[in-house]
Amino acid sequence: MEDCIFCKIVKGDIPCSKVYEDENVLSFLDISPANKGHTLVIPKKHYEKFNEMPEDEASTLMSAANKVSKAVEKAIEPEGYSILINNGKAAGQEVGHVHLHIMPKYEKDDFKLLWTHSNYEEGEMGKVLEKIKTFL
Ligand code: AMP
Repeated sequence: MEDCIFCKIVKGDIPCSKVYEDENVLSFLDISPANKGHTLVIPKKHYEKFNEMPEDEASTLMSAANKVSKAVEKAIEPEGYSILINNGKAAGQEVGHVHLHIMPKYEKDDFKLLWTHSNYEEGEMGKVLEKIKTFL
């Protein structure tokens, strides 16, 4: 996609600190990391959101992320790490090309990936469950 910064990285028009590459996937260091070793894994083909990807291509992305996470874990030895894909502006997605974050984490981090817990009204959970299952 023409205006997509990650497509430009895939094409080689913009440089990146390449961690891993194969036919379908590219992985590189995040330029503005949450912590050192923060790595992105992207499909070479442009999709905006994870759910837009065909299942086999999503599996390929996840498989590469698994491989890269092992290398990041060994190299950086963080206390923990998070794997995250932001989808849509409301979820914090800034770059409109699917990218999976591998984020080294430490107990004393300034940033925490935490959320407040909500709840279901009586009978609502079952309705939500059935609705999701309708689309599987
Ligand atoms: P998100 O908020 O999930 O869309 O995350 C986008 C991420 O892409 C941010 O963590 C940015 O630091 C990172 N980013 C943006 N441009 C580049 C680039 N040229 N090279 C590497 N990482 C980038």
